[in-house]
Amino acid sequence: MHNKTIREILDDLASGEYSSREITSALLTRIKNLDPALNSFISLTEDQALAAAEAADALRSQGNARGLCGVPVAHKDIFCTKGVRTSAGSKMLDNFIAPYDATLVRHLAESGAVCLGKTNMDEFAMGSSNETSFYGPVKNPWDTERVPGGSSGGSAAAVAARLVPGATATDTGGSIRQPASLCGVTGLKPTYGRVSRYGMIAFASSLDQAGPIARTAEDCALLLESMAGFDAMDSTCIDKEVPNYSASLADSIRGLRIGLPKQYFNGDINAEVGTLIDNALEELKNAGATLVEVDLPHAELAIPTYYVVAPAECSTNLSRYDGVRYGYRCDDPRDLTDLYTRSRSEAFGDEVKRRILVGTYVLSAGFYDAYYRQAQKVRRLIQQDYITAFDKADLIASPTALSTAFKFGEKSANPIEMYQEDLYTIPANMAGLPAMSMPCGLIGGLPIGMQFVGRQFEEARMLNAAHQYQMRTDWHTLSPSVYGSAK
Ligand code: GLN
Repeated sequence: MHNKTIREILDDLASGEYSSREITSALLTRIKNLDPALNSFISLTEDQALAAAEAADALRSQGNARGLCGVPVAHKDIFCTKGVRTSAGSKMLDNFIAPYDATLVRHLAESGAVCLGKTNMDEFAMGSSNETSFYGPVKNPWDTERVPGGSSGGSAAAVAARLVPGATATDTGGSIRQPASLCGVTGLKPTYGRVSRYGMIAFASSLDQAGPIARTAEDCALLLESMAGFDAMDSTCIDKEVPNYSASLADSIRGLRIGLPKQYFNGDINAEVGTLIDNALEELKNAGATLVEVDLPHAELAIPTYYVVAPAECSTNLSRYDGVRYGYRCDDPRDLTDLYTRSRSEAFGDEVKRRILVGTYVLSAGFYDAYYRQAQKVRRLIQQDYITAFDKADLIASPTALSTAFKFGEKSANPIEMYQEDLYTIPANMAGLPAMSMPCGLIGGLPIGMQFVGRQFEEARMLNAAHQYQMRTDWHTLSPSVYGSAK
């Protein structure tokens, strides 16, 4: 059962092959047996899951099944889940039991999905390797000496290891796509504003967006259909009809223009990654797409700009963790200043502290214009590059990550090197555009992903192209040997 995609599970539940309760308890057992070696879950919600599965089975037997009725999923531990610890991977929120459900959690529950638990992540979603989690790093199921990527490494690893068929995640600078690439799964960051962020713990509010990680583009489409939609509780969430993403998956991609940014395809791409991307593009050409060169002249400024904007916004967002209202509080504070200082010093990890310091600096009087305002201007240029490029192309393709999964410790000593990981992913966040990663090959037994970036609210076009690619290739069906095979 664990090898089934969401589409297959829905078909099996409909035909009565097995019940939601059966697959839910089978996956919970699998998680208990296999996850100690991976650490992809922070919390399991076994009782709630079994109750939700039984409720889904009852709905189905009454002929009222719709949406994702009975399908097991997991939530990144950044989404508030009522009555369940919601830690954001931090000691700061280790004792935080959310008093309400994030809108996305509610949407999935209303569509009948069954939440098995909460997945591990980099602390407050800051990181590219899952090494900053208070709960310890997640291991990559393809090679447990390597990182799963981050910050949504728990969601990506859990899907790759067939512990759950789909999971929610968030992406501020690449945290859905980069772990999807490193774990050999498919992940989609929707357009900024497509999915409500109410109840999603904030990192950098002008960049954060929630999206799905699953095995296939088809499953991402099914998840997104339930996740997306207007929410009056999030003022950045757009009131725009949610398309039926699944309906257009089978469309032909004849005539689709795929743009290749000359700044990326200039010989700098790692040679082995480049070969796999070329093969994938060839396959898309066989399916009727045409390739065109596009220009993203400010792409190289995306990382430095991001590392002004994201820390600035994080320093503001994380000021709410003061040891007073909720979260960690130090023992025996001497006075109020000591309470603030020690609570924050003791509960935040090094990377979070680094970002708060940088962010406070770039926002301070005297530096605001030189850094934050300047970064916003550069951001506008990056966005403008895409608007121009999308005159010539319908989608833009590139690798998702620089290379396959790296070893633990390899980049953690040097933050600048770690920040480079998001070279290909950050520009889409800067421009608010939808983007996704899908598996397109293996190098030395480790997966690699290809990225698509689309026009605003054109998730359907990306999913269609990715699905057509996945109909012609089987990279997305491969699983790490210990966790795959036997149905
Ligand atoms: N790796 C990037 C960072 O550390 C992006 C993280 C994310 O998308 N949440 O900020």
